Amino acid sequence: MQTYTLTREIPVEDGYDIVVCGGGPAGSSAAISAARLGAKVLLVEATGCLGGMATSGLVATFGPMSDGRQMLVGGVMREIVDLMYKGGHFGPHVVPDFWKNHYHRWTPFKPEGLKLVLDDLVVGSGVEVRFFTRVIDAEAENNHVNGVIINNVEGYRYIPAKAFIDATGDAALAAQCGAPCREAGRDTDRIMPATLCSLYAGIDWNHPRYGKDNATFDSAKSEVQEKILPKAIADGHFTQPDRFMPGMNKIGKAIGSLNGGHVFDLNALRCRSLTDGMMLGRKIAVEYTEFYRKYVPGCENIEHVTTANLMGVRESRKIIGEYELTIDDFMARRKFPDQVCAYSRPIDVHPYDDSEEEYERFKRDFYRVGRLEVGEYFGIPYGILVPRGWRNLWVAGRCASCDTKVHGSIRAMPAASMMGQAAGTAAVQMIESGQHAYELDTAKLVETLRAAGAYIP
Ligand SMILES: Cc1cc2nc3c(=O)[nH]c(=O)nc-3n(C[C@H](O)[C@H](O)[C@H](O)COP(=O)(O)OP(=O)(O)OC[C@H]3O[C@@H](n4cnc5c(N)ncnc54)[C@H](O)[C@@H]3O)c2cc1C
Repeated sequence: MQTYTLTREIPVEDGYDIVVCGGGPAGSSAAISAARLGAKVLLVEATGCLGGMATSGLVATFGPMSDGRQMLVGGVMREIVDLMYKGGHFGPHVVPDFWKNHYHRWTPFKPEGLKLVLDDLVVGSGVEVRFFTRVIDAEAENNHVNGVIINNVEGYRYIPAKAFIDATGDAALAAQCGAPCREAGRDTDRIMPATLCSLYAGIDWNHPRYGKDNATFDSAKSEVQEKILPKAIADGHFTQPDRFMPGMNKIGKAIGSLNGGHVFDLNALRCRSLTDGMMLGRKIAVEYTEFYRKYVPGCENIEHVTTANLMGVRESRKIIGEYELTIDDFMARRKFPDQVCAYSRPIDVHPYDDSEEEYERFKRDFYRVGRLEVGEYFGIPYGILVPRGWRNLWVAGRCASCDTKVHGSIRAMPAASMMGQAAGTAAVQMIESGQHAYELDTAKLVETLRAAGAYIP
């Protein structure tokens, strides 16, 4: 490919302590926490709302927040969930017991409600947000980020700051800075598939198969997975015989949200692959709509409202951090002296293709090998948030340093939010103490996080 040298002067906007790139569960929590501690924070988000996968990706169920004995999730994430409940942003069947006490319970919510709650939280904590703005480049030297270049309708800007948090899900900023990263597929040769999620109307939630309680919802979902889906596959209904579907959740009084249909081998770091994947995802959604209408009782009048604006990317690029969390840590339920949160969720690495073997491998990981029992959890250490040797750069959420298996657990939104809160808090501590990110006093960090409501055993 030929190259072109771009030389131009662009405006500089000074005055921020911290720039957070990406406003998903991780970035929003990072920005809110840092601003509450007194930092001047700029949150840069490529879309027109906060929430990332949870809103623009229509991934409308929070992963587990309790180990079945106690709630592991505190701090900003807990506040978000409580505010959503107060604001009526859950369906009538969703009660606090879901997230407080239940083991392996996913909590469905309305994405529009999360957008409103996050808007209020960032404004209330004094974060400056810029929507429709991308971080497109960075200037870094000696493992220190000097500034980022952003682009939006006003053109390019250079933003210097004291600290930077990469919550893009793709470690986009870390990669631009030249921090050590690993693209998905490097250690397994395969990339976890993506899913373009959808919203649905017209489901008869009063149909006897759904009943009124959660046990009936769950058994209705597992009936679709175990009995109805295999029949439709055998009938040749689907273009690709995808054997695993997390399924349809009731997210309001009448709305359904579907996490179903994999786009296999999608590489979210290649624009062509993302573009093709979005078009394929929309075609797949049509097949799933027809599947529900034809095969699933209560869905005869189902209507497809929309697919998501963001491809549901499960895995793309991660940093190589001061520490890499591995499956061995997970299996040992390891606790760390510098742990910034505790989490409990099974290994959820979706089948890499539509073969029977891969579906069996997934079930083995999810239900047997990677299953945590009631009361079990593992620690998420601070070191997975810091690119190895870096001084003023953190990542949080999907791009934290871990292997593929354990990523299948900690990529969930509650964990992403807790990592975000830790990164935001650490960035403020770095500014105040002058210690670099990689050498931060983690005992003090844990103390500050606890004071802000984090549960850190
Ligand atoms: C299909 C699917 C189903 C899932 N199911 C569940 C589930 O049931 N429960 C659960 O808890 N988790 C689930 N997850 C996982 C979870 O949604 C994500 O891993 C989580 O949202 C990660 O949070 P994050 O903040 O790291 O990244 P994201 O949510 O991906 O947010 C990243 C944000 O950064 C922005 N961004 C990206 N690049 C730039 C840039 N250069 N400049 C500015 N902004 C940028 C994006 O627009 C986005 O808003 C699922 C994920 C997928 C894909």
